[in-house]
Amino acid sequence: MDFDDTPEEAAFRKEANTWLSAHAEPKSDRTLVRGMTDAFSDEETLHVKESKAWQATLFEHGWAGITWPTEHGGRGGSSVQQMIFNQELAKFDIPQSVFAQGIGMAGPTLIHHGSPEQQARFLPPMLRGDELWCQLFSEPGAGSDLAALSTKAELDGEEYVVNGQKVWTSSAHYSDWGILLARTNADVPKHQGITYFLVDMRTPGIDVRPLRQITGAAHFNEVFLTDVRIPKANVVGEVNRGWGVTMTTLTNERTLIGGSVSNPVEDLLRLADRFGGRTDPNRRQELAATYIRMQLLKFLGWRVQSAVSKGKQPGPESSVLKLAYTRQLSAIGDLGLSIAGASGMLSDADDPDVFAWTQTFLGQWASRIGGGTDEVQRNIVAERVLGLPGDIRVDKDVPFRSIPR
Ligand SMILES: Cc1cc2nc3c(=O)[nH]c(=O)nc-3n(C[C@H](O)[C@H](O)[C@H](O)COP(=O)(O)OP(=O)(O)OC[C@H]3O[C@@H](n4cnc5c(N)ncnc54)[C@H](O)[C@@H]3O)c2cc1C
Repeated sequence: MDFDDTPEEAAFRKEANTWLSAHAEPKSDRTLVRGMTDAFSDEETLHVKESKAWQATLFEHGWAGITWPTEHGGRGGSSVQQMIFNQELAKFDIPQSVFAQGIGMAGPTLIHHGSPEQQARFLPPMLRGDELWCQLFSEPGAGSDLAALSTKAELDGEEYVVNGQKVWTSSAHYSDWGILLARTNADVPKHQGITYFLVDMRTPGIDVRPLRQITGAAHFNEVFLTDVRIPKANVVGEVNRGWGVTMTTLTNERTLIGGSVSNPVEDLLRLADRFGGRTDPNRRQELAATYIRMQLLKFLGWRVQSAVSKGKQPGPESSVLKLAYTRQLSAIGDLGLSIAGASGMLSDADDPDVFAWTQTFLGQWASRIGGGTDEVQRNIVAERVLGLPGDIRVDKDVPFRSIPR
């Protein structure tokens, strides 16, 4: 494989960089702490507003959704172009995190499984950043075993009536729409009775309560659903066949998480200059190891991207990528904090260079859980790559109603 840009790719990179240089500021300390905020705070409101404004600028100039079809507002480009654009984007101070669940996950799912009416209604405002989305999948009794979910939806005329509770719902408190899984048939095995819905987050009966994390930020929520009415037209795919639709969302989530890594080596070197460490032999080893892991992650990301560019849905490679990414995040969080020493424990947002490392260190556990835990990714690799015996799934063929809970 030749890793250098072809002449066409080099021209695309130049065009992207020229456009970004004219419309965005270079990466700064501020970039490091963007989005690490309390729910409903002024900083969060500003972050959401700036994110929407930036997305609208991308959309207007034809840089949003590089691989999305043009009829849905995208650029109709290749995944290699998307990758090149992301690499250039990483050099600038860009607010992005609020679009992960929408543009990163709900969008590709609607492109694959949505009806033409759903695609026309939801994809352009999603890509323009007008409407923000959240993912209402996990429940107190259904995380790794997502198919065990018990939020139920019952048909009443032209609407479904939904009752249940979701948890760990990132961004729900400022989202306009949600992708929601609910059980529509409890008389069949658990994977066969789930339906995939689109829900307006302002529907009466939805109660969103923020949860605070160890980092001090509160970006995810509990969501209680009481007699929430959803029109039949908002079912994605077929009723009771939502599990297949869900797989598209989850695979995109893993690829998104694994591919979201930015290169921390320059930031770590700056930190080492400030606190001493560039000349320490042990630190030098750790910094070199960080650089090597970054290169490996980059090549893993390209492997997933090249599968996508050949029209394949990423499979277990996205689990390998997510695992490698979270291991790297843990290692750099540990390293950053140990270089900063005592300052790492005392800093706050006034010292963004150090604060970002405190946040990375404390956030490592969340990243090893969100989007499927390390153990679950290892199970996927064990079964689908190594061909090891499957995990024990005693309730797989039992009607959901008969599973003791
Ligand atoms: C930062 C963050 C953001 C999130 N955002 C969202 C969101 O927006 N929307 C949403 O729906 N969810 C979200 N989640 C929830 C996330 O998807 C779940 O936390 C995750 O799937 C794990 O589920 P759980 O927390 O119920 O843990 P459990 O499934 O109860 O797991 C507990 C422990 O058991 C282990 N375990 C479970 N099953 C197995 C097995 N078969 N083999 C080996 N070990 C196993 C797990 O690895 C884990 O260590 C988010 C989570 C985090 C941390």
